Amino acid sequence: MSRRNILSICLLIIIAFIFSLFSFAFASTQKNLTVSFIDVGQGDSILIQTPQGKNILVDSGPNTAENTVLNFLKSRNIKKLDVIVATHPHEDHIGNMDVVIKNFNVGKVYAANATTNTKAFESFLLAVKEKGLKITVPDTGQNISPDSKVKITVLSPSKKDRYDDLNDYSIVLKVEYGKTSFLLMGDATANIEEKLLHDSKLRQFLKADVLKVGHHGSKYSSTSTFLSTVKPKYAIISVGKDNPYGHPAAITISKLKSERAEILRTDQQGTITVTSDGQTIKIDKKTSAIKPQAPPSSSTNQYAYIGNSNTKKFHYSWCT
Ligand SMILES: [Zn+2]
Ligand SMILES: [Zn+2]
Repeated sequence: MSRRNILSICLLIIIAFIFSLFSFAFASTQKNLTVSFIDVGQGDSILIQTPQGKNILVDSGPNTAENTVLNFLKSRNIKKLDVIVATHPHEDHIGNMDVVIKNFNVGKVYAANATTNTKAFESFLLAVKEKGLKITVPDTGQNISPDSKVKITVLSPSKKDRYDDLNDYSIVLKVEYGKTSFLLMGDATANIEEKLLHDSKLRQFLKADVLKVGHHGSKYSSTSTFLSTVKPKYAIISVGKDNPYGHPAAITISKLKSERAEILRTDQQGTITVTSDGQTIKIDKKTSAIKPQAPPSSSTNQYAYIGNSNTKKFHYSWCT
């Protein structure tokens, strides 16, 4: 064998070795499910990244966290959000849906069958329309996961449910990957917890390793019976520091403690990223570098209203 042949064989072996290293690294990062509870101040925004590389955004935080949310999604190299879920029409959950929809490719948009007349909600609807998307109202028992390895089941509300409190329209989701599971409650109150506990089919979905505590840990959610059925190892509270509502309630914290749940709060830990390999759950508290509460920059706020001093009317910034 000539020296040249030996050299080219060696080179081939080295290339094959490097290639296998890369594919191994790629495969090992791809098999995880990560759920990030973004520190948006007072509100909710949860990014789910699946083993098959799909991205699901559950809520988008309040308008004050616009840059935080956009920067976080960009930091995760996201080009497409395969699924967006607007749990319910309150501003602290849908405040940035308009800019998110405008800035990313979007697959499906799910929202509850509830409306309100706020600017945030109007901007959300307008962005959906402008992008040629449409809103799908999911039903209980429906799996909305874009990833065949992950199940995301809608537990509430059913299409025909009607409530007085907008919070009770919250789309409640059970995320299951292998042996691990997450229960995302939105702002659902004790009323919904009661409904789930008394539904023989849905009740079996309640037990979860990670609970996104309902309604920012307020006293109107998280009954003792509910928490002892969920039995969470980790309880995540998405809440703003010194918020005017007094969230989370001391009673909720003490109930979670008696369930021996490890409590993690976005106002104390910042963004909390939970990773599951299908068997075990790991919490990364180091992802809290991005801090919220920065005022939204006017350059990115395409949906800002502009006042016309002649007509005394308000228009969208692109309106002719
Ligand atoms: Zn809320
Ligand atoms: Zn709410």
